[in-house]
Amino acid sequence: MGLRSHSLGWVLLFTFGVGGLGAFGLDHFLTDSFERIEQTAMRKDFQRLLGTLDDAVAQRARGAREWSQWTELRNHLRKPQPGFTEENLGPHSLTASGLVWLALLDLQGRVVHTVVTDPSQDAQAIARMVLSSAKPSGREARQVPTERGRCALVFEPALGPDLVVLCHLSVLDSNGQGPSAGVLLTAERLGPSKLREMGERAALDFNLLPLERGGTQDWRRLESLASSTGQTTLWIQPGEPQHRLRAQVRDLGGEPVAWLELSWPREMRLQVDEVLRGAHRLFIVMAVLLALGSYWVVDWRLVRRLRSLKRQMAAARVGEDWTPRLSVSGKDEISELADEGNHLLQRIELQVQILAESAQTDPLTQLANRRGFDPRLEAALGRCARNAAPLCLLLIDADHFKRFNDDHGHAAGDRALQVLAAALRQVSRRGGDLAARIGGEEFVLLLEGSTAQVAQDCGAALQAWLAKQPSGETALLARPLTVSIGAAQARPGDTPQTLMARADTALYQAKSAGRNRLEWAE
Ligand code: GH3
Ligand code: MG
Ligand code: MG
Repeated sequence: MGLRSHSLGWVLLFTFGVGGLGAFGLDHFLTDSFERIEQTAMRKDFQRLLGTLDDAVAQRARGAREWSQWTELRNHLRKPQPGFTEENLGPHSLTASGLVWLALLDLQGRVVHTVVTDPSQDAQAIARMVLSSAKPSGREARQVPTERGRCALVFEPALGPDLVVLCHLSVLDSNGQGPSAGVLLTAERLGPSKLREMGERAALDFNLLPLERGGTQDWRRLESLASSTGQTTLWIQPGEPQHRLRAQVRDLGGEPVAWLELSWPREMRLQVDEVLRGAHRLFIVMAVLLALGSYWVVDWRLVRRLRSLKRQMAAARVGEDWTPRLSVSGKDEISELADEGNHLLQRIELQVQILAESAQTDPLTQLANRRGFDPRLEAALGRCARNAAPLCLLLIDADHFKRFNDDHGHAAGDRALQVLAAALRQVSRRGGDLAARIGGEEFVLLLEGSTAQVAQDCGAALQAWLAKQPSGETALLARPLTVSIGAAQARPGDTPQTLMARADTALYQAKSAGRNRLEWAE
């Protein structure tokens, strides 16, 4: 796997790992926060709804009180007026006041008059039921006239399927002063249309359910709420796209009469979800862009330059050419690596040069050895053939060198070979001259551009130099050293082998002819 795949993999892993964790944390945090915000808002809305319901009861109570503080009614109760009830307490008057039922009781608690707007209802029976009811409202009604009375929200099946505001009030004078002349019972229905109207006013979507239709199985208890009729418990059924909230509405005695249910739309939460989805999409796009960006940077700043370096180094290795230097763009760690590589190349180049030279040099005499001599002979032959220049070769062999060794030891033999090399250097000082040691006690003198005469002189000079044994150079030698020389001049079409072979033949002749002489090849 390359740098690019690695970096791409790591960036993706990092962004999606860390980013995913961050996104998860943010989601969790936001969801948590918004749930708390929702709960606060829901509680406030439900409290407002309870307040609206209380207001509705209070409003109806005011209407009922106006009836109970009607002087003519009071007078009628004290002393029944003929035609009063027909004229003022008929179904039309009830409808005009929004009441569905009314009953008048005297001071002894006897029902003296009842009115209903629904002719199918038995108003007397309802009044008796209300009075004899175990409900606190009924008990309170029987305690009148000492109290001024109250209104409460009740569910009274006898009055229909809706909740009603039931009031039982002392009949007083127009200023609400006593003594009481009797008791007035009224009922006003909170039907669907009234509830709808309340809901619109409060901008809340709610419903009132009879007790038996509003269980709280699978509902979660949220908290306790204070209402005008005491504490009640708020329940929640979470959902999308709305929560449902429920609490029991109680009557004056704290008896539950109905469930108040509020549908609470989660617009804010849905908007947050939408925002979060948008943020997630944005995050994914950013992560992909980041990965592509890092891929491009790694490719452009690292991979391409490293590959260029690798190509240059491979070319040097394959071609065994250590002279070119590495070059890479920019000034950073990679260019520093190239600089280090260049130092190594320089070192290798030098070492190779030293090795090559030592491989072509004879360690005893420091002259070129056979490996160094052969290519130079070939090159010189080529040059001379092209330039039609003369070239001579002297093949030199020490005479009776075995005996020399035997007589004086191998070390003395070595020294003698070094002296012979010095002598060769002495006589080969022209440009184009090359002395080499090509065997044990065999030497060669290549004289490029020299005529046979020059070669002859050269050989003679060598023999003379050895014969004279100048002090210093030959002082080490125990006895004079002589050499036999086979000389050959290059002919057109000669190869190194043919030229050497002719010189060798001439050398053999020199040996055969008594040694310490020079013979020319035919
Ligand atoms: P000839 O005159 O026929 O050439 O007789 P030669 O003894 O010189 O020839 P031969 O080929 O029989 O012996 C060559 C000797 O050179 C044998 C060997 O011990 C000696 N020799 C070769 N290389 C070295 C060297 O590096 N050092 C020493 N000391 N002796 C060497
Ligand atoms: Mg020999
Ligand atoms: Mg010899």
